[in-house]
Amino acid sequence: LVVLDNVNKHFGALHVLQDINLTIRRGEVVVVIGPSGSGKSTLCRTINRLETIDTGSIGIDGKPLPQEGRELARLRADVGMVFQSFNLFAHKTVLENVMLGQTKVRKTDKATAEKKARTLLDRVGVGAQAEKYPAQLSGGQQQRVAIARALAMDPKVMLFDEPTSALDPEMINEVLEVMQQLARDGMTMVVVTHEMGFARSAANRVVFMADGKIIEEAEPNQFFNNPRSDRAKDFLSKIL
Ligand code: ATP
Ligand code: MG
Repeated sequence: LVVLDNVNKHFGALHVLQDINLTIRRGEVVVVIGPSGSGKSTLCRTINRLETIDTGSIGIDGKPLPQEGRELARLRADVGMVFQSFNLFAHKTVLENVMLGQTKVRKTDKATAEKKARTLLDRVGVGAQAEKYPAQLSGGQQQRVAIARALAMDPKVMLFDEPTSALDPEMINEVLEVMQQLARDGMTMVVVTHEMGFARSAANRVVFMADGKIIEEAEPNQFFNNPRSDRAKDFLSKIL
């Protein structure tokens, strides 16, 4: 579904992505882990073209990423993204947040968009908050709204960049549970996270990055019980 072929990117002198080859199949959950600064966020951001790449190619559904205009807006809808900070529109209600992309990008009529928004808000457990503003919600609730908003676009793939790392501990699980359910429902997902419990139980594959390179790629059991590289062993010894 998503194919990165020999992708390279620099930020000035920093070679932040080095010869990245990665294929994400339909329905697969790929968890990306690695030390701070290894390029995990940049990798995510290239997939919906929030960042350009220098060389190599990225394809979704066999087509290269569009470069601009309406095609690019559609790509952003096809590739749902959930960030560490919740990025909701503060001056719009929860319901409006989840309706906006549908009416603006997908050109869905208002009634249909509202119905879908309410269904999705129920599904992530915040249906009762629909008329409130983001600031009136807890962090965990806001993050679940952000997930509902991305899902409202019927994305082909969902990217999560440390979706729980800004949350208080008691709110982490409610967000992880929504993500677990999404994984069980067959959503294709790329998840950058430090939640190793989630990686073990939900991931089909773990991708370990360091210094802009993919060092290791393995099934979670293999990776956590028997990492091949010294970099991965060293990383795991620090976090587990
Ligand atoms: P973390 O775990 O801390 O989120 P990360 O693996 O997500 O780290 P990135 O955010 O992808 O790492 O950053 C990789 C490197 O690129 C870092 O050294 C960072 O400082 C640098 N970098 C990221 N964005 C930019 C930018 N817009 N301009 C210049 N350098 C950048
Ligand atoms: Mg990051």
